[in-house]
Order: sequence, then structure tokens, then C-alpha cells
Amino acid sequence: MLPRVPTRQVTLGDDRVGYVRIGGGKPARDGSPTTPAPVSVQTMTTGYTHDIDACVAEINRLTAAGADIVRVAVPEKKDTEALRHILPQVRVPIVADVHFHFQRALEAVEAGVHKIRLNPGNINDRAQVIEVINACKAAQSGRGIPIRIGVNEGSIIERKDKQKRLKELGAVFSEHKHGYMLAIMITKLEEYLDIFYEQDFHDVTISAKSMDAPMVIDVYSEISKRFDHPLHLGVTHAGPKETGCIRSVVALGSLLSRGIGDTLRISYASDSRFEVEDGLELLYALGLRTRTSAELIACPTCGRIQVDLISLVQDVRKKLDGQIQLPIKVAVMGCIVNGPGEAEGADVAVFAGDRRGIIYVQGERVANVPEAEILDKLLAETLAFQARVQRGEAKLGEKKVDIVPPDPIGELGSGWEKMAHEKIASGTPGIGLTVGQS
Ligand code: SF4
Repeated sequence: MLPRVPTRQVTLGDDRVGYVRIGGGKPARDGSPTTPAPVSVQTMTTGYTHDIDACVAEINRLTAAGADIVRVAVPEKKDTEALRHILPQVRVPIVADVHFHFQRALEAVEAGVHKIRLNPGNINDRAQVIEVINACKAAQSGRGIPIRIGVNEGSIIERKDKQKRLKELGAVFSEHKHGYMLAIMITKLEEYLDIFYEQDFHDVTISAKSMDAPMVIDVYSEISKRFDHPLHLGVTHAGPKETGCIRSVVALGSLLSRGIGDTLRISYASDSRFEVEDGLELLYALGLRTRTSAELIACPTCGRIQVDLISLVQDVRKKLDGQIQLPIKVAVMGCIVNGPGEAEGADVAVFAGDRRGIIYVQGERVANVPEAEILDKLLAETLAFQARVQRGEAKLGEKKVDIVPPDPIGELGSGWEKMAHEKIASGTPGIGLTVGQS
């Protein structure tokens, strides 16, 4: 597990939807120790909150996809009124995203929401902020709910000593490409946090988002040194999934690999389900979350391919998604030349060739089927293996068994024969390759 930068811990939720902890590692305010919570994945609904049935359906769909926390927009009073009907129908903590109108925060708290997000760029009246803080303190029968202070690049605040502080921080960051913006974002956070500290309110997470990945890396790196509140990571306005994915993974992956970040939202101009799926995949890839579904390994295909592997991989992914609830490693390989080595550690693997596929379960060959039957057979074998693991008859990633390459004539036919002979002729080691070792 990667080391994590310790932070204060906040908790949101209730007895019905459960509780999600964010951050940790630093003692609580009463001195009791906290352990860092797993990095949580958030997303935001894309529909209107006042469209109650559609909003509930979207939240539940995102919860099923693995979202730990879901945020909803509440621009109008009809949206906060809808929360009363939405909250009893969902099973995940809900955050009300508030901009411009502090009354929406008060109404959302009254409706029973689990967390408020405020933007210092558009709710900066001190008296109004204090009203929201007091409402959050008193929420849930006095247990309180947390607030995220979400600064976005370009938000403007007023501060008595803003120019002085900007000058000081500007000097600190003078060598920095994003020096001025770092200074202004940190200044904004300092000013806003002062109001919270004066009210003895510390149940705070913070974010400072930009659409520029290097800027996001820089600003969170600096914030992490200066504040001990849990950090909500994100690249704002990241764009469509195709490019937003790269931008988000570069920024968030860099920070998380250095232990910075306690919760994240990847944002796409697309279905929010992809934000959840990609957020989770990023955390799995970094070893920051334990996978709860199948892990698919697949070769990129090349000129040796003899089945429609790209379609097969997509089909396997869709089938595994709904039916496998254990982190079973499944490998789909285009041929047996490099396949076994690349699939090392897979619990279930198929090696294709000459319009056929040979299927292995923890290294034991269990089937040799025509291309049209690979998908169904692979799924059946994966389900059977899952059942054996659930009954305690097998363990994930445990068994290491030598794969003896198939008879070139009787198994994968001419394709394999050609490849095998090339391999033997070139003296490449690998006959007697192994899979099944974790
Ligand atoms: S497994 Fe075979 S088909 Fe797939 S990329 Fe490797 S060599 Fe090519």
C-alpha cells in the first residue's frame, strides 16, 4: 500500500445509508487516533435534482457502479425541496453542491443532506457563511455534517490583507510556473478557513481544482503541506472522457502516488458512471483500493492475431461486470506466443489462435473451443471458479501449474503450428510456460 499523507478525518452519512470516512491518520480533536480511510470515489448527477424519480434512478445507478458519495446540484428551491423525497430512496451519502445562494445550503441541511459544498468564489459573505456553518454544526441532532470548501481556479474573494498575502505567497512561489495562481488559491482557502476556525468548526474537506493537470498537481502539493484537512482531488472541466481521462489520471495519479488525496472525483462531459468506473480503476491500479470485481487482462493484439480479439475482450468485460463479485484475474490473450507469460498470475485465461481458444483455470487446461464458443465457455468457467472460491475449495491467485503448449496439429492448428515452430526455430525459451502464479 502506498504511504498516505495523514489528515484529520471527517465522516458523512447516517445510520440508514451508512457512513463514509474521508482522510485520517492524524488524531481526532478529542485526541483519539484515526486510521486513514480508503480513498473514496465521488461523482455528481447530471440530471435535474427536482426531477425526483430520474434523480433517484441516477443516484442508484451510480451507487451500483461503486460510487461512495454522490453530489447533486441544488440551484433552485425546488431542488432542495426534492431532497426530502430523494434521500429516503437512496443508499449512499448525498452532498448538496451550493453556489451563489447560501439559502440553498440551509434548505439542504434542513432536508437532511449529508454534506454541503460551498464555493468561496460565489458565497463569500461572512455572515452568510457563518449561518451555513451553524446549520451544519446543528444538523443530525447536533452530530453535525461536514462542509467541503471547493475553490476553483478563477474564483475571486476579497480579503483585507489579500494584496499583502499575495505578495508574500507570490515571493514563495516566484520560481513556480503557476506561482500567482497558487498564491491566490491558497489565499482564498486561508481566508475562508479563518471563518470556520473562528466558529470552532473543523469538519472540513478542501479542494482546489483547475482544468490544467500540472496546475492541479502543484496546487494540491502545496495545499497538502499547509492544511491538514482531507483533500478532495479533481481536475475541473476535464472535457470528454477520451481526453479527460488522461488529464485526470496524470494529475490525480501523480498526487495519489505521493500519498496526497483522500477522496476524488473524476469529471467528464459524459455519463457519470464512467467517472465512477475510472476513479475506482485508478485506485485499483495504485493499490489504494481492493478490487471487488473481476480484473481483466488482455493483449493489445498484433499481426499474429487469428480471432476477433478486440470484440471478444469487450464482450468478456461486459459479461464479467455483472456476474463476478470477486477479484478474479481473467486473461484474454490473442495467441500462445507471449500469452502465457503476459497472463502470469491469471486465475482464468484463454489463449486464442486459428479461430479457437484454449481455456485454462489456474493453469489447468479445461477446454478447447471454437471462436464462437469462447465467450460463453470462458464465462461459465469463471463462474464455476468463483463458486469454488466462495465454497472455500480454491483460492485466488494461488495455484501455479505449468502450461504445456498444446499439440500444434490437434489444438490451435496451423496458426499455432506456425508460431510454435518459429519459436522453437529461434531458440526462444518459453515452451513449458507457466500461469497461475500471483
Ligand atoms: S498475445 Fe499474441 S496476439 Fe496478443 S499481442 Fe501478444 S503476440 Fe500478439
